[in-house]
Amino acid sequence: MRTRPGICRRKVRYASEDAALEAAAKAPFPLRPYRCGLCRQYHLTSRTKGMKLPRFEIERRRGLREPAP
Ligand SMILES: [Zn+2]
Repeated sequence: MRTRPGICRRKVRYASEDAALEAAAKAPFPLRPYRCGLCRQYHLTSRTKGMKLPRFEIERRRGLREPAP
């Protein structure tokens, strides 16, 4: 994904994809981490169309069962 310099400066940067995924997992709406070509770090985007579901979201969808007793 192309990132414009203004966007890059405004966005939070994550040093690793794991860190970005962790932040995405805590957000109340779907977010996807992506590698920024400008700062070489990770940002989150809410444009999730056509993107692979991250593991935590697959587990969240699959695991909508009752908590274990
Ligand atoms: Zn960036």
